[in-house]
Amino acid sequence: MAKITFAPGPSKVFDSLPEYFNDAYQQGILSANHRSGVFMDMYRETERLFKEKLSVPEDYRLLFTSSATENWEIITQSIVQHSSFHIYSGSFGKKWFGFAQHIIPETKGYVLDKNQEIDLKNLEIPAEVDLIAITQNETSNATQVKNSFLKALGAAYPEKMLAVDTTSSMAGIYLDFSLADIWYASVQKCFGLPAGLGVLVLSPKAIKKVAAKGEQGRYNSLSFMLENAANFQTHYTPNVLGIYLLMRILEDMPAIELVQEKTEQRMKQLEEVVAASESLDFLVTNPACRSRTVLGVSGEEGFIKEIKRAAEEKGMTLGGGYGPLKPTSFRIANFPAITDGEFERLLEFLKAY
Ligand SMILES: *Cc1c(COP(=O)(O)O)cnc(C)c1O
Repeated sequence: MAKITFAPGPSKVFDSLPEYFNDAYQQGILSANHRSGVFMDMYRETERLFKEKLSVPEDYRLLFTSSATENWEIITQSIVQHSSFHIYSGSFGKKWFGFAQHIIPETKGYVLDKNQEIDLKNLEIPAEVDLIAITQNETSNATQVKNSFLKALGAAYPEKMLAVDTTSSMAGIYLDFSLADIWYASVQKCFGLPAGLGVLVLSPKAIKKVAAKGEQGRYNSLSFMLENAANFQTHYTPNVLGIYLLMRILEDMPAIELVQEKTEQRMKQLEEVVAASESLDFLVTNPACRSRTVLGVSGEEGFIKEIKRAAEEKGMTLGGGYGPLKPTSFRIANFPAITDGEFERLLEFLKAY
């Protein structure tokens, strides 16, 4: 038996996958041509389910890419006209900023402390900036920004695009997609699937901006991707198995409001354990900034090593700290693919500390 992993990506996959892999093989999906009716029907159905289950507005478009990282590059290449403005507190937001800056040197960043709520009054986003980039759920330091902040940000800058990294929260919590134009994730986090597929969701306003920018001719130019998506096709032979598995787990998924309730209820239980513990400390001390899908626990280097080792002995892998936080923290994925039994085991383990 493999250990249960609580790493926040790649993370535990749904237990239904062996059956769905087998179905894919039996049904000829593994050899399906991406210009065939079989594939087009699958794309159409996946997009329909995606919108239904995740409460995505009808007129938004779902595109398939290979990763969240690829989406960083696509957004700058195909959407940003003058420059983007990046608000971030952790490693993933910083990397996104770096990708954007590599393509557009005028890209600007605004760095927050992980316990700092963003104050709109302190944000001075220059007029020439046409896209605001924000990491809704920062996996590296286990922080989040709320829907209500995205709403305020959009209202303060209605003429700019808002692009939101939800790689480790999409399909785990309720996101109000109407509040921003560009959303993305990759499936090895809350979707409970193997890595190798990214999703990119665009509003009609974002699609118009792609046309206005007119960037084309590259492998991952959005114009090229959208042209193909209009026929429920992709611009290259995609991860057909990944898309099929996404469709199957979306079929199983309850409405996102119900998923959110469960995520929240589990996170509250985890927070109670940490709050009551003598040796576990929150990585994020300000509750308003704490992620709902990733719990960060901090401690001294020796203690972190010890608890990770003890978990391994009990058949559980805790997620390591990320980047500079690696030696002094561990992280726990609070993702939907974790079963109640597995979650109880984790709680029992943590309660002993
Ligand atoms: C995991 C993660 C990424 C990178 O995802 P890839 O699929 O490896 O490109 C980007 N942003 C956040 C917030 C993440 O958690």
